[in-house]
Amino acid sequence: MALIVQKFGGTSVGTVERINAVADRVAAERKAGNDMIIVVSAMSGETNRLLGLASEISDRPVAREMDVLLSTGEQVTIALLSMALEARDCPARSYTGSQVRILTDSVHNKARIKDIDGSRVRADLDAGRVVIVAGFQGIDEQGNITTLGRGGSDTTAVAMAAALKADECQIYTDVDGVYTTDPRVVPEARRLQQITYEEMLEMASLGSKVLQIRSVEFASKYSVPLRVLSSFEDGPGTLISVEDKNMEQPLISGIAFNRDEAKLTILGVPDQPGVASRILGPVADANIEIDMIVQNVAADDTTDFTFTVHRNDFAQGMEVLDKVAKDLGAREVSGDDKIVKVSLVGVGMRSHAGIASQMFSTLAAESINIRMISTSEIKISVVIDEKYLELGVRALHQAFDLEQK
Ligand code: ADP
Ligand code: ASP
Ligand code: MG
Repeated sequence: MALIVQKFGGTSVGTVERINAVADRVAAERKAGNDMIIVVSAMSGETNRLLGLASEISDRPVAREMDVLLSTGEQVTIALLSMALEARDCPARSYTGSQVRILTDSVHNKARIKDIDGSRVRADLDAGRVVIVAGFQGIDEQGNITTLGRGGSDTTAVAMAAALKADECQIYTDVDGVYTTDPRVVPEARRLQQITYEEMLEMASLGSKVLQIRSVEFASKYSVPLRVLSSFEDGPGTLISVEDKNMEQPLISGIAFNRDEAKLTILGVPDQPGVASRILGPVADANIEIDMIVQNVAADDTTDFTFTVHRNDFAQGMEVLDKVAKDLGAREVSGDDKIVKVSLVGVGMRSHAGIASQMFSTLAAESINIRMISTSEIKISVVIDEKYLELGVRALHQAFDLEQK
């Protein structure tokens, strides 16, 4: 008998019919003898609806109250699923994050899980019940409701699996696994049978929203075998696990992209020690996270400085930079929020040269201009104009032979 954690995302519980279909699946697994913990998201569209309500009330809703509001979405789903299971004579009990005691820090809207008390859940499992847990939410030391950031139910599921030492954590969603790239953008994308934690972490960090980044970090840290599967059809899905040293690794496992990018440039900055910190310090002080940074080689004693931020931070970033430019006596400030980042990811890159040049020549052949480049051991990222995103991703997908065979 195994202990399995299954997570069902928004589309998978988007209607009463879908909730009933999930209940059929869960009841069957329970009958087969497995202990089951089920983590669910809000019904599809619900979190966005709640965000919309808040924005009609206030330009800047209080973060604490936002969490009280957003956590209601998942509470609806746990109750409905529990009722559906009971209707199938499958004993079940639903719990909110705070009832389980999923303890988080106090950073509202993007809290991190610190500890999970598994005792209540364990007692239910021992009594033969299916335990249903609301994803995406927890409680801080002071008893305030917190949420874990968009896509956070993935992290709830993996954290529950780690805390209760489950045999596997299964993420059921609207695609039947992790693909070489988003199948909605490249229909020829191929499902991966297996991918390493390390690669999945890069893919998620670089924009593949199939799993929340934190869920992959947790899975890797606690060695939780993680599988992404379709809730609409049967199949093996994609297993995310440690690198199998005996298996030959493909050069490139996947292509990730991120549309939420913007680029800021400050031109003609006097080239002196401390300039980077005098530019980026105020940006960081404004709580704006910086991603890529490029400083040009100085000519005539001045230099140019470019960096990327989340698109939501673009307007505020420009304001901060205008002020910095005045203080430093820089020539001008410019910005572009119509850019995207495209990245190749693969552990095979470690042992192979020439991937970057093939990437650049592929984009050049499509007349796509590369605005910025950054690399690490297992990834290469480029910033390009937003209008070339689909073209670029498709061209790279083909050039690196990632299509379905
Ligand atoms: P859920 O609501 O179940 O959490 P999400 O919308 O968060 O589902 O994640 C599933 C979506 O992730 C898919 O519909 C797909 O468009 C997108 N996606 C992005 N990159 C990939 C990828 N490499 N492989 C599979 N799906 C991807
Ligand atoms: N309901 C939350 C969201 O839409 C959490 C999740 O679905 O994982 O982001
Ligand atoms: Mg998701």
